Amino acid sequence: MAEVTVQAPAKINLHLGVGPVRPDGFHPLATAYQAISLTSRVTARDGGDWALTCTGHDGVDVSGVPLDDTNLALRAARLLASRAGVERPVALHLDKGIPVAGGLAGGSADAAATLLACATLWELDIAAADLAALAGELGSDVPFGLVGGSAAGHGRGELVTPIHDAGRYDWVVLTFDFGVSTPAAYAEFDRLHAGTAVPVPEIPAALVEALANGSARELADVLANDLHPATLQLRPELAEPLSAGLDASALAALVSGSGPTCLFLAEDRDHADKVATQLTTYGRVRIAHGPVTGATVL
Ligand code: ATP
Repeated sequence: MAEVTVQAPAKINLHLGVGPVRPDGFHPLATAYQAISLTSRVTARDGGDWALTCTGHDGVDVSGVPLDDTNLALRAARLLASRAGVERPVALHLDKGIPVAGGLAGGSADAAATLLACATLWELDIAAADLAALAGELGSDVPFGLVGGSAAGHGRGELVTPIHDAGRYDWVVLTFDFGVSTPAAYAEFDRLHAGTAVPVPEIPAALVEALANGSARELADVLANDLHPATLQLRPELAEPLSAGLDASALAALVSGSGPTCLFLAEDRDHADKVATQLTTYGRVRIAHGPVTGATVL
């Protein structure tokens, strides 16, 4: 095999419960992820030397993506090579359909796709749990990129267990030409909670039930993001599109992860189209559905 292409999805957080900051600076999370149909494709080729190129599709601007050794995809390939004792450099090409620095875990999707692409290219006999452990070393959201669907994330988000989901949910995804740094959003969370006892986070039973019932209306009532106030504090201009989405009859509106991407839950695809038309003045609007599968060889 000289070339393998793998597709991996964006994630959204249906619930993002953030606990008190740990001594190592991380926050314990109780999150419910859903993989949605915005995807990144990674092609790994046997190359003479390590190399990385990147393009975007569906209007994704990739000018902010580092092409050096700090790129999460390249780090993923090098980590797998060193742990598996492989000495065959790869040339990676990322074709990103996930907006960058939007709270949609685009870099993590690239890393998850790269792990699977390289494991396939190198014909490694590696257990899913071992690949997931490597993914967790690379970043909190990377293991979920391998699994996809709807899932609970604990620890830093890297300990992933699937949640039974009987539904299909249509989302309007509103992105902006600015990003929010995830560390900055957590720092703002800490500032907003200084001097208060932050409770240990839990995934609400009502959310698990809503997914088991496959009900968008039930899900709308329980969507929650503890980073929402922090992100709104950093970017107050997000308040207007969020309320415009609700005025346009979205079932719910919330910030995705650390933002700035805003998510609007619709009844179905037609309803999503209607909500989307009311949001085009605020940023770039895409329609996506979830849950979708995790990293998949094409
Ligand atoms: P986070 O995982 O921090 O929540 P995010 O989902 O908001 O991030 P990403 O698209 O993953 O956003 O990008 C975050 C930052 O990671 C970028 O600004 C970039 O500097 C860096 N980065 C490293 N590797 C990649 C990659 N393969 N694709 C995009 N960004 C990358």
